[in-house]
Amino acid sequence: MASPTPASPPSPTPPPRKPRKPRQTPGARLPAPLPYPLQVRAFQLLRDTNPQPETELLYHDAFTLLVAVALSAQATDAGVNRATPALFDAAPDPAAMVQLGVEGVTEHIKTIGLFRQKARNVVALSQRLLDDFGGQVPSSRAALMSLPGVGRKTANVVLNCIWAIPAQAVDTHIFRVGNRTRLAPGRDEVEVERAIEDNVPAEFQGNAHHWLILHGRYICQARRPRCPICPIRDICPYEPKTTDP
Ligand code: SF4
Repeated sequence: MASPTPASPPSPTPPPRKPRKPRQTPGARLPAPLPYPLQVRAFQLLRDTNPQPETELLYHDAFTLLVAVALSAQATDAGVNRATPALFDAAPDPAAMVQLGVEGVTEHIKTIGLFRQKARNVVALSQRLLDDFGGQVPSSRAALMSLPGVGRKTANVVLNCIWAIPAQAVDTHIFRVGNRTRLAPGRDEVEVERAIEDNVPAEFQGNAHHWLILHGRYICQARRPRCPICPIRDICPYEPKTTDP
């Protein structure tokens, strides 16, 4: 008589999986902003180097600033400034920009990155200004952001430069400087914007974005910050600092 086949041992039950931890807990790893006295000192020093900071984009009025800022996305101000004088001569207002048309705008801005999409946006936003805003540039963030090709950063530049509202237009330079210096730490542009609004003393709010953007463009550069010539090197907690300008 054949012996019975031994039963195969039961396969081990895999242990229950631990729930995955979220990659980052909201609020974690974000360093505290610099304390108030150091915020004051840092912005005093930045103000001393440039008491009246201004945008480096060329413009004549709210409309030409709006167009210039919209064109500056993923492009340098210098590159935009090479193209816009002739564009603004040809089309100084929304009606003229619509008249110039996408082809005409394209001819003027084809040295700027993403020029085809930007030309379509500039003509479309000009048409919207005519249709919905009486040909004027609106003065609220929501209305500005309703225009084709206008995001929060562009809207904030227009609010700040035209209506003197202390709106913070956070770009890649401000994002980097805000985090390195801890003047305005944040995990994304909106967090940095909020950190500036929450932490920068009121007397510096209006010009904060100009000081931070110029500091990032010329001193606290992405690949190699120029720490030895930096006016806020004694305050900045970023390490390691560079030793050659
Ligand atoms: S000390 Fe260096 S890292 Fe700090 S803000 Fe100045 S340039 Fe940037």
